[in-house]
Amino acid sequence: MVVTLKPGADREKADKLSDFLSSYGVKVNMNHGEDNDVLVLVGDTHKIDIDLIESFDIVASAVRISDPCVLSGRKNHKDDTIIDVGGVKMGGGNFVTIAGPCTVESEEQIIGIAKQVKAAGADILRGGAYKPRTSPYTFCGLRKEGIEMLVCAKRETGMPIISEIMDISHLDVFEDVDIIQVGARNMQNFELLHELGKQKKPVLLKRGLSSTLSELLMSAEHIMAEGNPNVILCERGIRTFENATRNTCDISAIPMLRSLSHLPVIADPSHACGISDLVIPLSLASVAAGAGGIMVEVHSNPECALCDGNQALLPSQFKTLVSKISKIRKAIE
Ligand code: PEP
Ligand code: MN
Repeated sequence: MVVTLKPGADREKADKLSDFLSSYGVKVNMNHGEDNDVLVLVGDTHKIDIDLIESFDIVASAVRISDPCVLSGRKNHKDDTIIDVGGVKMGGGNFVTIAGPCTVESEEQIIGIAKQVKAAGADILRGGAYKPRTSPYTFCGLRKEGIEMLVCAKRETGMPIISEIMDISHLDVFEDVDIIQVGARNMQNFELLHELGKQKKPVLLKRGLSSTLSELLMSAEHIMAEGNPNVILCERGIRTFENATRNTCDISAIPMLRSLSHLPVIADPSHACGISDLVIPLSLASVAAGAGGIMVEVHSNPECALCDGNQALLPSQFKTLVSKISKIRKAIE
């Protein structure tokens, strides 16, 4: 159910109404809009009398809705959501560059790359520690120790950090991680999504390998319905019949998601193509299509990388990319 308040509705009365609605056992999410505030009710609303709610003097309308993207969709939340990640703003016209290795390999490696990508203009440092690898015989990450090394790089450089979670029992390890990534393979791990919805740290949700945009938004909805509004959507390529590239970079997903949802939308061209030479053109295409950021893999010695070396940019290539991005952004302003 969506309850739209009249423009300029009294905040105190709105809070009282919200408490009253919560007494029915539903979750009430308040969206503050430019013109009016909107209360979005999640849960079983059948006992709530619409006429009674509409009789409150601050209420403009109350509607039972069947749209499943009640929280993640644009319909009830016209303005872009802006998420603050340790001082870096994502969404709403802000542009964010996330860079770093596929996986943390050692303290020296991650601190070295962190300094290089920061100097080249990165805003946030990435580094996987719990790695979802197709083969169990490949490097599966340094796990807790890897996160600790990433946190050291954060302390050394002052950059916020992002890393992937695979199991909610590891959540404590992510205490100093600024964005929790849910990888493509876990996009529909609903138990994981629910638990991440019960905490407030931003969650970067990657599109599943074979998931539609509507399924991606429904997964975001699973997190948001539990009370965490801080979700970032990431297009990272999908499975198609084409096998010249690792995946197919769905550029159209970027403007489509931006029109369907108010959440920040970023692109990960590294996993979309799997080939370092294609990462710069695809990044630029994503920016031109309206992405609010990119996440790219950077390694100082890609030939020796323990994971995804084929798609890693050198720090110098990343620097070139950052300067090209600023030209594209100016061109589309
Ligand atoms: C990653 O970002 O390291 C990763 C494994 O990505 P994806 O889930 O998109 O494959
Ligand atoms: Mn990778």
